[in-house]
Amino acid sequence: MIVRRFLFGLLFLCWTALAHAGTDQDDFMHALATAREEAYVTPSAALAKLDQLKEGRSGQELGHLLVETSRANFWLGKKQEALAAALDAEKLGRESHDDVLLAKAMLSHGLVLSRLVHDQDAARKLIANAAALAETTEDIHLKTRALVAQGLLADQEGRSDDALDYVEQAAGLARSGADPDALAMALREQARLMAVVGDAAPALKLADELLAIARSRGIPAQLAHARLIEYATAAHAGNPRRAEKALQSAVDILEQLDARERLAVPLANLAELYVQSRRFGEAARTSEAALRIAREVGDENGARLASYELGLSYIYFRNVAQGRQMVDTALDGLKDDERYVRMLLDYGHALNQVGWGDVALTVYEKAGSVSLAAWRKEKQLSYQALQRAYAYQKKQAELTAAHHESQLKAAELTTVKRLRTLWVALSVTTLVAVLLIALLYGRVKKANRTLKVKNEQLFHQSTRDSLTGLFNRHYFYEHVVPRYHENPGRDGKAGGVFLLMDVDHFKSINDRFGHSAGDVVLKNVAARLAASLREQDVLIRWGGEEFLAYLPGVALDEARQLCARLLAAVCGSSIAAEGQQLTVSVSIGFCPRPLANVDGGPDWEKLVHLADLCLYLAKTAGRNQAFGVADANALTPAAIAAADADLGQASADGLVDLVNVKTVQ
Ligand code: GH3
Ligand code: MG
Ligand code: MG
Repeated sequence: MIVRRFLFGLLFLCWTALAHAGTDQDDFMHALATAREEAYVTPSAALAKLDQLKEGRSGQELGHLLVETSRANFWLGKKQEALAAALDAEKLGRESHDDVLLAKAMLSHGLVLSRLVHDQDAARKLIANAAALAETTEDIHLKTRALVAQGLLADQEGRSDDALDYVEQAAGLARSGADPDALAMALREQARLMAVVGDAAPALKLADELLAIARSRGIPAQLAHARLIEYATAAHAGNPRRAEKALQSAVDILEQLDARERLAVPLANLAELYVQSRRFGEAARTSEAALRIAREVGDENGARLASYELGLSYIYFRNVAQGRQMVDTALDGLKDDERYVRMLLDYGHALNQVGWGDVALTVYEKAGSVSLAAWRKEKQLSYQALQRAYAYQKKQAELTAAHHESQLKAAELTTVKRLRTLWVALSVTTLVAVLLIALLYGRVKKANRTLKVKNEQLFHQSTRDSLTGLFNRHYFYEHVVPRYHENPGRDGKAGGVFLLMDVDHFKSINDRFGHSAGDVVLKNVAARLAASLREQDVLIRWGGEEFLAYLPGVALDEARQLCARLLAAVCGSSIAAEGQQLTVSVSIGFCPRPLANVDGGPDWEKLVHLADLCLYLAKTAGRNQAFGVADANALTPAAIAAADADLGQASADGLVDLVNVKTVQ
């Protein structure tokens, strides 16, 4: 029993120790892999991270950290530091008999020799030895790296075919070994090289594979790098939309990572895409940002590319003198850039576009002579190395195409000069046409204006009464009734009141003072009634000397006060008509609208009819007063029928509650 327990305990201890060791090692490997990806994108930050990781480490672990330290320094362009770290790593590799470490260190060393020291022979030897050493190991990452290094060297020496072979082998190996970071490294170079030789479709496919890996690995620096490759591939493939999207995405990630050392060139490239799509404002802003960052971090190449693009934007903005100065200075330092001829052509194009054809011509001539010189140099080299035949043909085709293009541009310029005269004639014709159109447009506009006024007048005429200027019945049916139905007056708000007003003894005014005096009185009464109502009320000339008012949202109390006001307004002072001072009065009947019209309630005709019955009551009660229904909600169909038969009786029977309003005597 005790023995079993002891054995279990021992097993458990071993297991935890193993698991612990495993995690530690995993953490270190992951940190190393991340630093490796970050070395390109954020070299300074990667260096700081590597320094931290180095603490307390020695032997092989320190050696691997030094290999990546050399890489990060390489990307920073720090030749001495990159060399020193690689040499230290080599030494540790030898001391610890670690061939993987030694080979990796030699590869980093070779890269520095090739690209920074420019000692191709030494680099070639070192890389070949490293590759041979790598072959004796089982390390997929190392073997992939060796193949990629050989590919890069071949590319550097103009052996495009060899370069492609190497990187293809590298990708195949990494794929079969299921090492995603190694595969990403190989795919980056393979996609780039294939795009350069013009195999656009397969290059874009590789970029897709690369992006998928970078996404699944979840290392932002790796994704940014993948996006940059995608951009370069799409740009070569002649797919500017995808290029811009990829580059924008790369820039976004680089900004998030604060990868200032790596930002200027992508931003300048983005500005280039903007210039190409004629978005000069964006181009200027982006290249300004690129220039600022490049100066801050001392990225001279980035600064030149940025000021080249900024200069182009200036030229397109017609700030030609300053733009030319910027572009000329920038191009001075970009003569070794592989896109130098392309940049000259774009420069010439910009100048030509803004009317500086003569200067454009000299720029095109320069582009032509540069491409010719490059072509000649390439030709000489091609005789020395027969194995470069394929690459030579490719480049030759490109260069002659560029040379051709510059010749074409020069020819185009002479045509442009001839076209200019034609343009002047065309411009004059266009100007005349524009003036004519403007004239006609003015006339049409004026006609439209009068038409609008006429329409307004017509509307006014068809909806207004000519004597009083009030709205007529037509207006009521067209504009008030629809609104009445739309707004059923719910939510406890007062539903509104219909008011019918009739001038008292009006016939006798006509009879005694004549029809025109009667007209004056009517006009006056209408004006007095209108002045006593609110803005939102409608006043209609209902018939001869009869007026209908609809007061939305008015409750009983307000209706009573309003009636008193209306009565007083009419009879309160006399009206001067035909040399007479006439005092007239009106009688009013009103009927409110029920509050909640669940089933729609009585329609407006019923309510106006009830108001008319009330008006009749006011007349018979002595005129110059108002009668109205007090409780609209009690207006059941039965109550309405009873009121219809005899309003006085219905009131006496308590079926309809009436109110009487008189002017204050
Ligand atoms: P009551 O107090 O009962 O209303 O008596 P009334 O005389 O006002 O009533 P009645 O309906 O008998 O008279 C209305 C008169 O209004 C008849 C008509 O000639 C006159 N009238 C209608 N339209 C006009 C108009 O536009 N101008 C003039 N001057 N008179 C008009
Ligand atoms: Mg009347
Ligand atoms: Mg009357």
